[in-house]
Amino acid sequence: MSIHFGVDYYPEHWPMARWETDARLMREMGIDLVRMAEFSWQKMESAEGTFDFAWLDRSIEILARAGIRVVLGTPTASPPAWIIQANPEILPLDSRGVRRGFGGRHHDCQSNEAYRVHARRIAQAMARHFASKPSVLGWQIDNELGNSHHDLCHCESCRHAFQAWLRAKYGTIAELNRRWGTVFWSQTYDDFAQVPTPAANAVNAHNPSLHLDWKRFHSDLIIEFHDEQAAIIRREAPGQFITHNLMGFFDLVDYFKLARSLDFVSHDQYPMGFFDRPQPMKDPATLAAHLDLMAGLKGAPFWVMEQQAGPTGWSILGKTPRPGQLALWTAQSIAHGADAVVFFRWRSCTVGTEQYWHGILPHNGLPGRRYEELKACIAQLSPVMDDFRGCLGGSEAALLFSYEQNWALEVQPHHPDLDYLQHTMGFCRAFHERNIPLAFISGSEDLARHRLIIAPLLFLDLPGLAARLTAYVRGGGHLVLTMRTGVKDQDNLCQTEGPLPGPYAELLGIEILDYDCLRDCEERVECEGTVGAARLWWDVIELRGARALARGRGGDHGGEPIITEAEAGSGRAYYIGSELDPALMSRFVDHAAKAAGLASLGPSAEGLELVRRRGAEADYLFALNHRGEGASVALPPAWEAIIGSRDLPPYGFSLFRSERTEPRPRPH
Ligand SMILES: [Zn+2]
Repeated sequence: MSIHFGVDYYPEHWPMARWETDARLMREMGIDLVRMAEFSWQKMESAEGTFDFAWLDRSIEILARAGIRVVLGTPTASPPAWIIQANPEILPLDSRGVRRGFGGRHHDCQSNEAYRVHARRIAQAMARHFASKPSVLGWQIDNELGNSHHDLCHCESCRHAFQAWLRAKYGTIAELNRRWGTVFWSQTYDDFAQVPTPAANAVNAHNPSLHLDWKRFHSDLIIEFHDEQAAIIRREAPGQFITHNLMGFFDLVDYFKLARSLDFVSHDQYPMGFFDRPQPMKDPATLAAHLDLMAGLKGAPFWVMEQQAGPTGWSILGKTPRPGQLALWTAQSIAHGADAVVFFRWRSCTVGTEQYWHGILPHNGLPGRRYEELKACIAQLSPVMDDFRGCLGGSEAALLFSYEQNWALEVQPHHPDLDYLQHTMGFCRAFHERNIPLAFISGSEDLARHRLIIAPLLFLDLPGLAARLTAYVRGGGHLVLTMRTGVKDQDNLCQTEGPLPGPYAELLGIEILDYDCLRDCEERVECEGTVGAARLWWDVIELRGARALARGRGGDHGGEPIITEAEAGSGRAYYIGSELDPALMSRFVDHAAKAAGLASLGPSAEGLELVRRRGAEADYLFALNHRGEGASVALPPAWEAIIGSRDLPPYGFSLFRSERTEPRPRPH
């Protein structure tokens, strides 16, 4: 049986007498699965070693009778009060030295051995108990790892763990001193025990190399915390899958690394946040990029473990989704590679911090508009989802996404507004507007399968990457690099080997003679007849074989090339020495897409997104109308409408099918 749709369910919040009704209502709307227990540590272990799984067994039995399967979460995101009372050292210490207290969630230090002992015990007890339950399909370890840990833990345990991580990486303190450049400001260490965490109590800024390694260490720590539980579950419950609910562009954990120990990736998709300012609604291109990153982590379809099912909120609320939007967002997740969608949550909770994080059912438990909308959506999509299960949509272009580059630029953003994710989104938006699929890659994959690769902000020259990208271009690939490329080595020290952009200067046919941080100003630029603004940064480029695609117009940098293009081997390499406004980005992407021969899925009106998935025998095309007014899409007759039509209502979606005539491409 394939799983298509689920709900996040908290039976412990409701009287047992209600559970049969819940199961029946779920079944009637087409729900195949629930996720449970990821915050229920105290209900399962009320004192050390005193386990009670009877309530969960009962819930699982009721659901199983309705044909509903289960994913269980290990509950380590919410250690109960009795654990904190017994081991208060588990509480994390923030960068200002403040000990965080019990009362929210994730009030834990993930390097703390006492906490690890508790975590291993509950994970093992759960896995042993549920290993033989046929309707328990798999596990989610913890919940949104890294969430609530923005201010990384600086406790003594974490400092010692950081020092041990450094010792394993550098071997000797002399090597660390050399590679971090600790001669600066007399920071040379005699011993690893002297190395601090980059806490906020420093008189001023810490060494950038220390900062970068601290971010790498913390990502590794969170992954190691995850993998310890994964190993226990693999041993105790070998027939059940392991996944984790990731959070799109969340930047504390290298998701490419975390994904290695998962059977498949899961993701939490909340188009309408509540705390974001000024606009809590994410634009469709950003939503698409989050989903495409999830597909890119393993180059495979994923699950959405939490799909928004109502207005979100804690103490303040986001806007209520308009009629149609919940179904539209569900279709968008599936279009971009979700094989199953689990809605958060089943029923709006009457207690606790998330009273206003609304579920499918309102507080009173009576099915209403959200229930009916999603029931209809499930009835439409469920019958076709097996046709493209396991396959993505295919893409000819890719975006090289790097956690380490992002971290290095978080340490030193150069310009106050320079942001790795925003810079990356500039490209994603232009591809999204054109309905040209753009896959996310780490750079370790087979690069030659893509006609065009965009590798933004390659600030750090990470080992081997320049050689791989150079070979890719010489072999016929088209490559786009941007400002601040090749500036640093992997240890976050400035490069001295030749002119910028370092190892790419020859490939690109340019040298960067100087640069200018565009504080409180921007430069006018003309690119093939389009005039727009370049912002944040300006590389002063000298052409050494490349030609200028765009130049400054007037201002401090009038006449200087800012976008360049060069042939290299049988490929082509572009450099963009600034951040382009949308008009210039559009012009550039039109040029690069045409040169690389990238195919669009078709033209569409603004706000109407086209996304493809490929099945074994046919292609499927989703048309997603993100606007509050009707829209039409013109598609060739070969596309047969199987859901909806070429005329879409406000916030509506349609699905089209076309028999494949060409041989099946390798799934991306
Ligand atoms: Zn700690």
